[in-house]
Amino acid sequence: MPDETSDEPVIEARGLVKRYGDITALAGVSCTVRRGEIFGVLGPNGAGKTTLVEVLEGLTLPTEGTARVLGVEVTEDPAAVKARIGVQLQASSYHRYLTLREILELFGSFYPRRAESMALLERVRLQDRAGARMSTLSGGMRQRFSIVAALVNEPELVFFDEPTAGLDPDARLDLWEIVRGVREAGATVVLTTHYMEEAQALCDRVAFLNAGEVVALDTPEGLIRSLHAPYRVTATSAKPLPEAAVRALLGADDVEFDCGPDGQTVRLRAKDAPRVTAALLALAERERVVLDGLTVQPASLEDVFLRVTGRKLSG
Ligand code: ATP
Repeated sequence: MPDETSDEPVIEARGLVKRYGDITALAGVSCTVRRGEIFGVLGPNGAGKTTLVEVLEGLTLPTEGTARVLGVEVTEDPAAVKARIGVQLQASSYHRYLTLREILELFGSFYPRRAESMALLERVRLQDRAGARMSTLSGGMRQRFSIVAALVNEPELVFFDEPTAGLDPDARLDLWEIVRGVREAGATVVLTTHYMEEAQALCDRVAFLNAGEVVALDTPEGLIRSLHAPYRVTATSAKPLPEAAVRALLGADDVEFDCGPDGQTVRLRAKDAPRVTAALLALAERERVVLDGLTVQPASLEDVFLRVTGRKLSG
């Protein structure tokens, strides 16, 4: 058993390659996950996220490379890893005719170490539904249940796969609190998500995968800071600003214009936002254009996604 207080990474993946015939799902992935962090795995469809997670869970053998999970070589002893991790299943994977309590008890019976079912249900405010079947729950309740069903063996490391997929904003915020609670209770969390604002709000560090490779890995703030132009400036006006003059502003990148019946919207990226904003205001004054709106926003993980994958988010 590794020392729980040690600085040894919870996951240490080195050079993981996974090929399916001609398809290379993982092309040499190395990364570490530290104890107690929420680690996000992001990337476009087909980037290799599921494959990476399945290798780390001991469900898939890598073609090459090694992964130590909780101090155990996962390829050598996947059963030892599986006993100590929690894996969130899709809500549809649970038996429809068992009650929530029966499902937890059935799952718990597979493990020597197990949490008490009612205590688990209380963690996600489903104690009043202990006798209900999955089919009678709302989408948010099912997701909450699938989180807690991953905790039956009191795991040290939990994998959540798209924990808030398809939920409305309120239910999503609620789930974020639950995921934070799992970490506060002492577990390390690895999650995959397509929602960049989710990764930004929840994750201590994120790894972006693209075509089976880690193309960026840092804290969300670090990744945003590493962008060449980490601010977005947006100006709206009834009368249009001359496009060539805006494009020529020093320090303005990726300038876009949107013209509609209500006027013009200029969007650009900037490294030195105060300087570019001042130049834009001076230009508007010279051209006698009244700006109706001027906003400066820090870039987000969505901008990082665009830079590291070259793709817009598909949803
Ligand atoms: P998504 O966001 O769509 O779930 P992902 O990032 O999880 O995608 P993976 O599911 O890991 O990506 O797939 C990576 C690549 O490996 C894809 O090209 C996929 O088609 C391929 N792949 C995954 N599993 C298999 C398999 N069992 N047999 C053949 N090819 C596979």
